[in-house]
Amino acid sequence: MFKKILIANRGEIACRVIATARKLGIKTVAVYSDADAEARHVKLADEAIRLGPPAPRESYLRSDLILAIAKQTGAEAIHPGYGFLSENADFATACMEAGVVFIGPPASAISAMGSKSAAKTLMETASVPLVPGYHGDKQDLALLQREADKMGYPVLIKASAGGGGKGMKIVEKSADFTAQLASAQREAQSSFGDARVLIEKYLTKPRHIEIQVFADTHGDAVYLFERDCSVQRRHQKVLEEAPAPGMTTERRVEMGTAAVNAAKAIGYVGAGTVEFIFDTLTGAFYFMEMNTRLQVEHPVTEMITGQDLVEWQLRVASGESLPLKQHELKIHGHAFEARVYAEDPARDFLPQIGHLLHLRQPAENAHVRVDTGVESGDEISPWYDPMIAKLIVWDESRERALDRLAHALSEYEVVGLDTNLAFLRQLASHPAFAACELDTGFIARHHAVLIPPTPPVGTDTLAMAALAELAQVEAHNLTMRQRSSEPASPWWEADGWRLNQDNRHALHFRAGDQEYAVIAHYADTGYLLEIGNEKLDANGSLHGQQLRTVINGHRLQATVVRDGSRLTVVCNGTNTELDAFNPLLVGLQAAEATGGLNAPMPGTVVTVHVKVGDMVEKDTPLVILEAMKMEHTILAPQAGTVKEVFFEKGEQVTEGAALLEITPAIEAATITQ
Ligand code: ADP
Ligand code: ADP
Ligand code: MG
Repeated sequence: MFKKILIANRGEIACRVIATARKLGIKTVAVYSDADAEARHVKLADEAIRLGPPAPRESYLRSDLILAIAKQTGAEAIHPGYGFLSENADFATACMEAGVVFIGPPASAISAMGSKSAAKTLMETASVPLVPGYHGDKQDLALLQREADKMGYPVLIKASAGGGGKGMKIVEKSADFTAQLASAQREAQSSFGDARVLIEKYLTKPRHIEIQVFADTHGDAVYLFERDCSVQRRHQKVLEEAPAPGMTTERRVEMGTAAVNAAKAIGYVGAGTVEFIFDTLTGAFYFMEMNTRLQVEHPVTEMITGQDLVEWQLRVASGESLPLKQHELKIHGHAFEARVYAEDPARDFLPQIGHLLHLRQPAENAHVRVDTGVESGDEISPWYDPMIAKLIVWDESRERALDRLAHALSEYEVVGLDTNLAFLRQLASHPAFAACELDTGFIARHHAVLIPPTPPVGTDTLAMAALAELAQVEAHNLTMRQRSSEPASPWWEADGWRLNQDNRHALHFRAGDQEYAVIAHYADTGYLLEIGNEKLDANGSLHGQQLRTVINGHRLQATVVRDGSRLTVVCNGTNTELDAFNPLLVGLQAAEATGGLNAPMPGTVVTVHVKVGDMVEKDTPLVILEAMKMEHTILAPQAGTVKEVFFEKGEQVTEGAALLEITPAIEAATITQ
C-alpha cells in the first residue's frame, strides 16, 4: 500500500479521499488555489502546497505543477477526485511517465470512453444496447438532419465530448433542427474545444439508472449494483438513491453484467460508472456513457454495500486484488444522497455565490453522513462547483430512509446565500416521490409544489424575530450599564420608558415587498406581542445565535443570524429573511454595520482620539485598535456626544467589548424635549 498520496482536487471529494487515506495510515498531500488557502481540505491534509490563482486552468488543472509537487513531496500516487483532471487521458499518461501512480483507469480506457460517440461504437460491438440514434464521424448538416428526421422527433443533440449536461439540446420538430444544432455546436466548441455532436432519440419518460463497476489489474471485474439518479434539473443530478426502486433481480444481473462487459471491453481498472437510460414506457434500457472516475453519488453505494469505495480504489491502484468477489457483495437497506447546492431554485437553479455566514449540519450517526468541504464562514466562490455538501442517509427500507432524509434536511441550516435546501425538503416529503413515481421529468412536473412562492411570514416567526431584536437590545443595554459610571440610571432599562410613556414599542420588519409590524408591550413576565389581530404572550432569551422562546406556552427554538439590519430566522430548517428597521435599534445596528463601538476582534488599544464630552461627526475616528498585526480604526457610526470611554491606550480588549459610548445627536434631542 502507498505511504503517501497527493489529492489533485478540492472541496468535499478531497476531504472524502483524505478521510480514507487517514484510516489506512496513508499520508496526504493537498494542493490548493489562492481561493482555497484556508479551505477544509487544506487543513485536513498532512501537507498542503499552493498551486496558483483561483482559476482552475491556473491551479487545479495545472497537471505539470501537480506532478512536480507529487515528486517534490514524495507522493507515490495521485487521486484526481472527480471533475478537473479525473478524466484527462493526457494527465494519466503523464503520471505514468513520471513514475507516479494515477488512481484511476489506464489512459487508454479514459480515451475509449472520453468521446460519447466513440464509446457508443465500442459498446455496440460489445453487444451493449444503445439508444436509437446517430453517433458517426460525419458531421455535415444535411446528414445530421436526415438522421434526426429518420429517427423521429423529439431528438436530443449531445456534445460528443460533453459532460455536466453542457451542449445538450432537445429538438421538438424538424424545422427547429438547424438552429438547435448550431447552438449545441457552439456550446460544445466553447466548453470542450470540440464541436462534434451525436444525436439520440429523446426518451420522454426515462429514468437514469447507473451501475457502479470495479476492476482490478488481475483481470477481475465486479458490479456494486445500481443507483437511480432520475431526479435531475438541467440534466444534472440533485438526488440519488440505491438500490433503484422496482429493480428486479433479473434486471439487476442483466444490467450489471452489461456494465462489467463494457468495462472489460476497454481493459478497465478501478472505479467506473456505466450510465444507462431506462425507458419507463417500454422497460428497455440503453447504454448512455461511462464515467471513468469515482462518481459524486458513490456514497449511496457505500451505504448499501458497507464498502469504502475510496479504499477499493487505493487497494486496486496499489496492485491488490478486488476486496470482494461478485457473490460476496450484498445489498443491505436503502440509501439516499441529496446534493446541497448554493443555488436559487426559483430562478431556474441559478448558482449563488457568497459567504456561509452560518452553517450547521445534521448530526452524523450510523444513519446520517455528511460529506462536505466547507465550514461556517467559508465562501462559495464563482470559481468552482457551487455544491456545499452531500447529505447521505441510510435505513433498512426506502420508506424509513426517506423519513431520515426529511428529518436530516430539517436540521440543516445555511445562512448567507440561497440554497436548494427548502426545495430538497419539498422533494423528500413529496407523495409522488415516496410512491417512486420517478423519471427525469419529476422536477418539471411537480415544479409548483417543489418551488412554491414565498409564503407570508408566519406569526410565530415574526414573534421570534421581535424577541431576538428585543433580546439584543437588552443584552446591549446590560453591557453598557456594566461599563457605565451610573449603572443604576433608568437609561439602561429596556422597558421602553425613554421612548414611550405607555411601555409599548413598535418593531418593523420587511420581507420581499411585504411589511410587518410587531407591537411589543413590556410585561412583568416578558412581552405581550401584537401581530396583526393576534396577541401573544412571549418570552425569549438569546444565547449567541440560539434563540429560545416560549410563545403562548409553546416552546420554540430558532437560530437567528444577523447581518447588518438583515435577520435570518431559521426554524425547523426553514429560513425566513427579514429586514428589520427599528428605531430602537438604529444606533446599535449602525454601530454593527460600521464595525461598531465594540471591538471587532480581540486586540490592544493603540490610540484613543476622543474624551468624554467631545462632539463627534459621523465617521470621526474614535479609537485605534491593533489586532492580528493590523490597525483597525473605530469610526463614529453617527453624530453625537462622547458619553463615556471605557478603555485607555495600551489596554487589552476582548472581542465584542464596548469601547466607548456615544449619545446620538438625534436621541439626545428626543430626551430633552
Ligand atoms: P452528461 O455527460 O452531461 O452526464 P449524459 O449523456 O449522461 O450527459 O446525459 C445527462 C442526462 O440527460 C441523463 O442523466 C438523462 O437524464 C438525460 N438524457 C441523456 N440522454 C437522453 C435521451 N436519449 N433521452 C432523454 N434524456 C436523456
Ligand atoms: P456525477 O456524474 O459524478 O454525478 P455530474 O454528472 O454531476 O457528476 O458532473 C460531472 C462531473 O464533472 C462532476 O464531477 C462535476 O463536479 C464535474 N464538473 C462539471 N462541471 C465542471 C467544471 N466546470 N469544472 C470542473 N468540474 C466540473
Ligand atoms: Mg452522465
